[in-house]
Amino acid sequence: MAMATAILLGLAVGSFLNVCIARLPRGESVARPRSRCPECRGAIAWFDNVPVVSYLVLGARCRRCRARISARYPFVEILTALIAAALAVRHGLGPEWAVQLVFSAAMIVLAAIDLEHRTLPDAITLNGLWIGVLAHVYLGAPNPLAQGLLGLAGVENAPPRVLALIGSLAGLIAVGGLLWAVREAFFRLRGVEGMGLGDVKMMAMVGACLGLPLALLTLVIGSVSGALIGTIFMRLSGKTRDYELPFGTFLGAGAVIAVIFGDDLVRVYLDGAFPPG
Ligand SMILES: [Zn+2]
Repeated sequence: MAMATAILLGLAVGSFLNVCIARLPRGESVARPRSRCPECRGAIAWFDNVPVVSYLVLGARCRRCRARISARYPFVEILTALIAAALAVRHGLGPEWAVQLVFSAAMIVLAAIDLEHRTLPDAITLNGLWIGVLAHVYLGAPNPLAQGLLGLAGVENAPPRVLALIGSLAGLIAVGGLLWAVREAFFRLRGVEGMGLGDVKMMAMVGACLGLPLALLTLVIGSVSGALIGTIFMRLSGKTRDYELPFGTFLGAGAVIAVIFGDDLVRVYLDGAFPPG
């Protein structure tokens, strides 16, 4: 029952994310007006707006003008539903599930917009910064790193929410700062921008939302997969070096992987590096 609820909610959230992906880059409201076909501007009836189902029933075409509907619509809806289900397996349907689904949703929107427009809207990254800090404090998740930092300062038994606040701010500053330094160094050495400021803001947001180990994991997954897949893509498509890699897309994918599997990955790594016993 919980799983069915998670999947249905995931599909509905995914449908809303498609609206955000289409409208945010154009500076339009995501609340109004109701959805229209981008080709014929005809309003889309509710029964033509059912996640995944309508796409299949309509054969991927607008009912009025027969213009093709992008496969991105069902893809985002199914992806969001799968993430909602995976998070439900981990956390059950509670506040933690909701917070991590909202975070994953923001990552999907950023990844898709960066892929289509090579831009990462401040409306998400900058708002995500302070919302991430608040959500972290609200959940008060245990934070060994913040505990260690305070321990060094001689403070024991700090309340969980204080630890969560420190952990979130540490993640924000460390990961955002690291990426900002890489961007600066690249600019000094090469005289061109190798990375947009949007990527830095996005990683600062991820740092605030996930805290340190998971935000670093996001950065590693995003960088390695971006370099690998980017190189292969440029070879196959014959793109020149001018091709701009959508780094935010890879960071978004890394963040979602970190949110779902990160705790396990970090534990496997630590057990490998420092075997228990
Ligand atoms: Zn149409």
